[in-house]
Amino acid sequence: MATKVNKKTKYIFITGGVLSSLGKGITSASLGLLLKERGLTVTIMKFDPYINVDTGTMNPKQHGEVYVTDDGAETDLDLGHYERFIQVPVTRQNSVSTGQIYFEVIQRERQGKYLGKTVQVVPHITDEIKRRMTTFDKKFDVVLIELGGTVGDIESMPFLEAARQLSLELGRANTLFIHLTYVPFIKSAGEFKTKPTQHSVRMLMEYGIQPDILVCRCEEDLEKDIKSKIALFCNVDEDAVVLALDAETIYEVPILYSKAKLDDIVVRKLHIQRTVKPSLTEWGKFVQRIKKPKYCVTIGFVGKYVQHQDAYKSILEALCHAGAVNNTHVEVKYIDSEQITTADAAAYAISGTDGIVVAPGFGARGVEGKILAIQYVREHLVPFFGICLGMQCAVIEFARNVCGLTHANSGEFKKVKHNVIDLMPDQRNITNKGGTMRLGSYPCVLKEGTKAFEAYQSHIIRERHRHRYEFNNDFREELESAGLVISGISPDARLVEIIELPHHPWFLGCQFHPEFKSVAVGGHPLFVSFIHAALAYHERTVHHRVLDNNHLLVRNTEEHAEHIGH
Ligand code: GLN
Repeated sequence: MATKVNKKTKYIFITGGVLSSLGKGITSASLGLLLKERGLTVTIMKFDPYINVDTGTMNPKQHGEVYVTDDGAETDLDLGHYERFIQVPVTRQNSVSTGQIYFEVIQRERQGKYLGKTVQVVPHITDEIKRRMTTFDKKFDVVLIELGGTVGDIESMPFLEAARQLSLELGRANTLFIHLTYVPFIKSAGEFKTKPTQHSVRMLMEYGIQPDILVCRCEEDLEKDIKSKIALFCNVDEDAVVLALDAETIYEVPILYSKAKLDDIVVRKLHIQRTVKPSLTEWGKFVQRIKKPKYCVTIGFVGKYVQHQDAYKSILEALCHAGAVNNTHVEVKYIDSEQITTADAAAYAISGTDGIVVAPGFGARGVEGKILAIQYVREHLVPFFGICLGMQCAVIEFARNVCGLTHANSGEFKKVKHNVIDLMPDQRNITNKGGTMRLGSYPCVLKEGTKAFEAYQSHIIRERHRHRYEFNNDFREELESAGLVISGISPDARLVEIIELPHHPWFLGCQFHPEFKSVAVGGHPLFVSFIHAALAYHERTVHHRVLDNNHLLVRNTEEHAEHIGH
């Protein structure tokens, strides 16, 4: 099947060789940014080789966080990098998995649409891949397609075959292959070794793909003769061997690629005319503030996957962006919620931090630790930011310790009389796990005079959700009269989206995931406001900390106690 495409859309495929974790996602996002800054319209797609339909059912320990798009797709975390860098929202169609491809083809087969033919990987699976690769045809000047996995993996072969065919159909002037490889330095030999790169390119060529550009990850600058050797043996132009040296921060990568002229080579090879060299002024200032910040705060991050930081990728990036806005380095102290089993343990874990984030999550494990941590920061006036489950834990804590509903809990963990968090009515009869939560972007109305309103400076906002449980309206009045302020609510007033405590320096929980909308330059209003509060807290308490010789921070909270519900 020849795929009909408009010649004007240019396609860039990004493959990876030698080993995984070389930064294909960051490379794609960085190149996307450089091309966008040249005045081109750009989108980035990710093709993942796994058979899961999406990441929604995958364990974050294995696969990292589940990134949610505006239209409610549960995707790979690389999609988050794309949005943070190019600052253009991606959609469900930007994230494709082998599972989706097979699902579609098998459904079609069941409907008899293949008219009795034998359904095969080539051409039926590859045709479906090509159909999806050209989804954005005519809608963007450039479509970058990151192919997940490493060249040589059995699973990714159909993607490579589809990319090869597409390149043949569209012509080499409209398609470009960038291969990311690794050039290791072998200490005992005192040399950089190019053989792994040669082998991975050879493997790519076995699939009929000749890379146009090689991006070589290496720890130090390569001498000219090594670059020449790579170019000669891998059959690429010498100036198309681009080095990717380790960067201090991922946000420096676009600047390094721009210096290495990656975008120049791309536009030249794709015959894209009349573009301007990107200035990256604002981006450069942002990177400078990350590299040389004026201030520093420590944020305690309370979660159950703290050994697996990819599980919270977007939150950590959002903290970094908000730090840059506040000219502040955000040092993250990981606090395993399962280790917090007593009030003393909470106090110990939180001491020395200037604010805590309580993470999203599923299941009862670690929840009691989160609740103890929240009690401590509420009572000791330490800035608190609860996200999704973090907000739900704050509601439970308030119900238990301020309203005296001692056994209050979420219906997710225990069926009790006071399920202050409970299943949403439209979730009650759902049994399937994949794609069935409240997902994607929803509007939320903010109440004037609250911290949320102050941060957003807007009456209505849109944020992304991923949850099944919700604030139980049966307890709204009771909690509100005890001092909890509902500062964000769905337009029909049915769903509580943000809660806060007015007499606390900064205590806010949101049912949505603000981290998914934090962009590199500018950050996200709630994160920016939270870091600002943490900075103020740091300045107020640093004196005490020195006096206390870094022991437990003992602060006089009595004067505030009545305001926070004691
Ligand atoms: N487990 C909770 C729910 O389903 C919270 C989900 C989350 O933190 N993303 O409502």
